[in-house]
Parts: sequence; structure tokens; C-alpha cells
Amino acid sequence: MFGPTFTLTLMPPKADSEKTQLIARVNYYREMGIYDFYRRPVAEATSIGEAAPASAERAGEGEPAVVAGSDASFFDSPTPVVQDKAAALKAIREDIGDCTRCRLHKGRKNIVFGVGNVNADIMFVGEGPGADEDEQGEPFVGRAGQLLNNMISAMGIRREDVYIANIVKCRPPGNRTPERDECDTCSPFLLRQIDVIRPKVIVALGAVAAKNLLAVNDSMANLRRRWYDFKGSRLLVTYHPAFLLRDPRQKKEAWKDLQMVMKYLGLSPKAKTPEE
Ligand code: URA
Repeated sequence: MFGPTFTLTLMPPKADSEKTQLIARVNYYREMGIYDFYRRPVAEATSIGEAAPASAERAGEGEPAVVAGSDASFFDSPTPVVQDKAAALKAIREDIGDCTRCRLHKGRKNIVFGVGNVNADIMFVGEGPGADEDEQGEPFVGRAGQLLNNMISAMGIRREDVYIANIVKCRPPGNRTPERDECDTCSPFLLRQIDVIRPKVIVALGAVAAKNLLAVNDSMANLRRRWYDFKGSRLLVTYHPAFLLRDPRQKKEAWKDLQMVMKYLGLSPKAKTPEE
């Protein structure tokens, strides 16, 4: 009884382990809100564990546009590497369609999908479109957007260098906070966008973005000033630009957060900072 014990671990046959991994992968896609899969011709020699060749035009034909990394096994990477990011984002937009999945569709003019560099190192995630964004179909184009642009340029980069999206893609009536079920309905599409873009850093702008992405209910004071691991990216929480417009004294604090991002990415600040 007191001697060493040994456990005999039986390795499942390769086919079984591939099946288990495949089930895990399908479940992962389900969590991302992807339910439809399309069969495509598989080259004779391609086993399930080998990377399928990337094909841009296939991605444009309504397929999920995700393929394995060029030299990694299909199951080695935590999430599939997307070869044609523009096509993959287009496929997500097409899946959203003329969305009526939640009540927010009733008052919207435009679905505000997201905008920016598909290869961005930084992705900013806000709460939901306001009136200007609803009108123009682009996130952060109103007053808060102007401040976000200033924050981005203070970091020594341009708006065109980053990707910008929101937790919900339709304007909540009267700019109210999106409700839980609305966020839950919409955010799977954002998670798919994140999986496609794979930014090095995600900046959650405000409590709604932070709480929805991190699935926690905590104060901004507790959420800020630390890094989170999020789907292979680092995530940082800072104040929403609309909040900073209401309380400009907090810009100093937001700048501290952005400096953490800059330090991590090796960015040098522009001479002018947001508090100036
Ligand atoms: N506020 C947000 O959270 N998102 C926008 O796109 C605009 C304002």
C-alpha cells in the first residue's frame, strides 16, 4: 500500500484521438456561433492531421475561410490561422446578414460591423454604435470617435493601423446600454472577428466591453491596469472615450493604460498626448 503506485495509461488509437480532437474543434466553432460547415474536396494525400492548402477563392465561396497554419498540424494551434482575413471577415458579415436576431434591429439604420486593418496589432472594442455610427455604418465616427482617434494618434499610430469594433453592432435606442441578451446574441460575431484578426492586443473600451469580453462583473478600478489572456491575445481595459469626454480628468489614467500597450508593442508616443 505504501510503495509507489503506477498508473497504466492507454493511448487511444490515432484515429480515436483525431476524432476527439475533431469533436473539440467543432464544439469550439459552435461556441463561436458557427454551426454550418461545408465540405470541400480534400487532396488524396491530405490526412486530417495535415494542413490543408490555403485557398483564397474557396474562402470567398461561403466557406468559413479558416485553414490550418502553414506548417503546423491542424490541431497544434489553439485557434485556426486564417489565411485570407478579408474573405473570412466578409463571410462573418454575410452570416450576420440583415440581422433580426435581437430587438436592436428594430431601430437601426445600419449594422456597424467593424473597420480597420485586418492585420492590426491592436483591436479596440467599444460598447455599441451611437447615432453617428448608425448613420454612417462605421464605429467611433462621432465625438467619442474623434477622441479615440486622438488617443490612437498619441500612441504614434493611425486609425487605419488598428481594427475597431463593438460588442453590439446595432445602435441601442437612445444610446442606452446594451442589455445582456443583446450582447450575448451579438458578441459571437465579434469573437469570430477577433479569431480572424488575431490582434496582439485588444483594448476593451469601458465596462460593457470589458465585462462582456472577460465574462466578469467587476468595477473599472479593478479591471484596469492589468493584462488578461484572451483568445491568444493580450487584453487591457481602459476608459471609454465617451466617459473621458464627460470626465476629462480621467484622460491621464487612460493614457497610463495606453502606455502599457505601447510598451508591450514597442511603440513610441507622438509628442502630443490626449490630455494636452
Ligand atoms: N461608442 C461606442 O461604444 N462605439 C461606437 O462605435 C461609438 C460610440
